[in-house]
Amino acid sequence: MDYKSKELREEALALKLHHRGPCVYFRGLIEISNKCCKNCLYCGIRSGNRGVERYEMSDEEVMREALFAHEAGYGSVAIQGGERCDSQFVERITRLVHNIHKQYGLGITLSLGEQPLQVYKEWFAAGASRYLLRIEASNPDLYRLIHPDDGQGRHSYDSRVSALHDLKSAGYLLGSGVMIGLPFQTYAHLEEDLQFLKKIGVDMAGMGPYIPHKDTPLGKIVEFWKSGNSSLEILPADLQALAMLPRGDFWNFSDDRLLDLSIDMVARLRILMPHINIAATTALQVLNPDGREMALLSGANVIMPNMTETEFRGNYSLYEGKQGVADDAAATRDSLLLNLDKLGIPVGWREKGDWRQV
Ligand code: SAH
Ligand code: SF4
Repeated sequence: MDYKSKELREEALALKLHHRGPCVYFRGLIEISNKCCKNCLYCGIRSGNRGVERYEMSDEEVMREALFAHEAGYGSVAIQGGERCDSQFVERITRLVHNIHKQYGLGITLSLGEQPLQVYKEWFAAGASRYLLRIEASNPDLYRLIHPDDGQGRHSYDSRVSALHDLKSAGYLLGSGVMIGLPFQTYAHLEEDLQFLKKIGVDMAGMGPYIPHKDTPLGKIVEFWKSGNSSLEILPADLQALAMLPRGDFWNFSDDRLLDLSIDMVARLRILMPHINIAATTALQVLNPDGREMALLSGANVIMPNMTETEFRGNYSLYEGKQGVADDAAATRDSLLLNLDKLGIPVGWREKGDWRQV
């Protein structure tokens, strides 16, 4: 780490301690389903990936995980999954949110993609108070490259930004964020990302490294670039034009450099927005087993310990190299607690840890 980076991280940590105190807050993660109607070019559970076995947890399984969170003293749960808009799905989430809120009084974060304003309102009324919807890449041109028109209007940049405004107007604490190290992405894009998050006024942020997945279009392009092969023909026809575009600043970064860049982004956001919640994202763990803890020492103050039952974990494969897929909720908690203890980072047990009430 260079000197500048060290100073940056120290300043971010000092600001976190001053504005938010020493604790890390837990949001137990429930990966409810990997069924998704979208086809984002980077994501392993995109609808176009036929190689992944699709699952959906039952209500009982979700409630069992919420009970685990309650008993373990996590103040909150986060329900995340692929995007779906059918009424059966919407009603089911309403029911689960209502039950978790009523039975356990946990804070509830949702991360279920773009939905109509009415649905956001319904889930908020049922007891959810936070919503995570990353802008992914705030530069509209880069956004469009990695979410090309699907002919059904699901990948629109303008809709994504409107959804963020809808979430605010529905009353949620708004969470957003970006991926760092995407193909075509540049340092200038990352600057734009920080300014975007500031301008839209997020209450929470989750920014993590982009990790290629071999069964995705972007994963194939990165693999092609790294192979040094110059014959475009080995790529599927629809990817050849993309592969010829300028590659951006990060496509050949080592894990260590990408980790440093990601941690520096966390630190810079903390300096820009000292009061918000910033997650030490799960993808950091792929680059380094202690990646999340490094983020906590550089300004992050939230962590999402996975509670998903072991049988489903491997199939919620947004990216490759996901850690802890053979663990259950208790093993995940125990190893995390050991690490936090070593670093002297206290946990805000049973606390929601929001910076403002909704
Ligand atoms: N479907 C919802 C939530 C699940 S995806 C949504 O898209 O909002 C959650 C996050 O995983 C996405 O916001 C994206 O930033 C991240 N993600 C997907 N593929 C990834 C990859 N290959 N590397 C790193 N993060 C990825
Ligand atoms: Fe679906 Fe979210 Fe993955 Fe996009 S990032 S394909 S919306 S799960």
